[in-house]
Amino acid sequence: MPELPEVETIARELNGHVTGRRVEAIEIFRADALGRQAPADFCRALRGREIRHCARRGKYLIFHLHPERYLVVHLRMTGKFAVTAPLEAPLRDHRLWFHLDDGRVLVFQDLRCFGTLDVVARLSDSPALSKLGMEPLSPQCTQSWLRRALAASRTPLKPWLMDQTKLAGLGNIYASEILYAAGLDPTQPANGLDGPSVARLHRATRRILRKAILKSGTTISDFRRVDQKTGEFQHFLRVYGKAGEPCPKCKTPIAAIRQQQRSTFFCPRCQR
Ligand SMILES: [Zn+2]
Repeated sequence: MPELPEVETIARELNGHVTGRRVEAIEIFRADALGRQAPADFCRALRGREIRHCARRGKYLIFHLHPERYLVVHLRMTGKFAVTAPLEAPLRDHRLWFHLDDGRVLVFQDLRCFGTLDVVARLSDSPALSKLGMEPLSPQCTQSWLRRALAASRTPLKPWLMDQTKLAGLGNIYASEILYAAGLDPTQPANGLDGPSVARLHRATRRILRKAILKSGTTISDFRRVDQKTGEFQHFLRVYGKAGEPCPKCKTPIAAIRQQQRSTFFCPRCQR
């Protein structure tokens, strides 16, 4: 599933393609992604509006439209956007086409159909966005905020990092990599961290996310950028998906455990 760096990459690339374009028409080939919104209402809410800006909040992609509306998208497992010349017919995984005023088409593709698209009149109307916690790269995400937030919870560290109501945007890959970079045990309770550990976690979070954005995210299987290229951060992963391989620092085999039905990868020696 795309995490913060992948969604940030897509938002930045979409800005280069669709900013200033008006949505002239919408074709829906499969309406799963619209949830309870009626397709006709969805189209009416977007048609004729200009895409002013694409942004990210947590793992959500947000199209800012004018006159004011917001299209809030979660890509889930396999959701993707592409911008193409007009096509004769939709491909198998095409779910929606947004016809733009320059003749090109913004395509929403989603093989597994778990992605969601919601139109809201104001950002505060989005129930999904209102539940999100702190943006890890925002100036408000200080070491002292992190210390206070961790101190309020006994949840093990790895699931704590992935809880979108605490920090928004981290998933399985980056939570594993951040804890390895910080040298922290993924199973220890959040409120058990001392001051130096919180400082290392804070630094590692920002460093790993910034580097992953710089490398246009991680492609393990499905993630593709708007131009269909892969990300590059998979070449910089230290523990994720590497069970049994030697730790890059100490050569101890990387361990894999299950935490809340998700795999956690870590070095049993470096992360004690
Ligand atoms: Zn190690």
